[in-house]
Amino acid sequence: MIWHKQWIFGNWKMNGNLADNAVLLQQLAKINHDHALVGIATPFPYLSQAVDLLKNSQIIVGSQDCSSFAEKGAYTGEVSATMIKNCGAKFVLIGHSERRTYFNEQNQILRKKIDNALACDLIPILCVGETLEQRQARQETAVVGKQLTVLQGLSVNHIAVAYEPVWAIGTGEVATATQIEHMHAFIHREILSILGENVTIRTLYGGSVNANNAADILSIDKVNGALVGGASLKADAFSAIIANAQTE
Ligand code: PEP
Repeated sequence: MIWHKQWIFGNWKMNGNLADNAVLLQQLAKINHDHALVGIATPFPYLSQAVDLLKNSQIIVGSQDCSSFAEKGAYTGEVSATMIKNCGAKFVLIGHSERRTYFNEQNQILRKKIDNALACDLIPILCVGETLEQRQARQETAVVGKQLTVLQGLSVNHIAVAYEPVWAIGTGEVATATQIEHMHAFIHREILSILGENVTIRTLYGGSVNANNAADILSIDKVNGALVGGASLKADAFSAIIANAQTE
């Protein structure tokens, strides 16, 4: 059922503290969102707090990353997919552009993270997107196509991908409807050719989604939801975005 709703997922990035989180989570827990699947990706230390405060709601909790190491052991600072699952999380963002930029994460490492997430039944949400320079050089489909090759050989019936043009993340600059529609159609086609025609796909758009533009973005063909950064930190803005999710 969740694979046939629009997904509205928040990414808190490196924000929050126990006191402010509690207020936000209690507000989120009251939102009516039967028509959409709502998730929030918190920093690791706040996973359990979010799971606990959202336990009577339908909102799912996830992390923003997981380790590429599958086993427990001597990997100081790493957090395994198994630990994330153990905290009650349901999904994990993989390959967010900030991970690609600041930690040079590329397909080889990202594939290990996807495999680790799937192995413990976490939903991986693969984030893809081109930089401004790449778009100006008209390389957006080549870049995103290469990022999607990380899915080759996966044995899955469902896959979630967030298309987030790097130049639209946190900038207030949103891709145009034509750009979004073109890239989402491209991503759908690529996924079907990599994983087979029977795979169920969720493609979320991310990049400066807010309460004012959500309705337009969420009504674009093959936009199956949104990944929301800044606006997910405010209950009223996030709630307004959720209210605009379409019934598919
Ligand atoms: C993001 O962090 O994935 C994101 C899309 O951020 P923002 O909504 O702030 O642009």
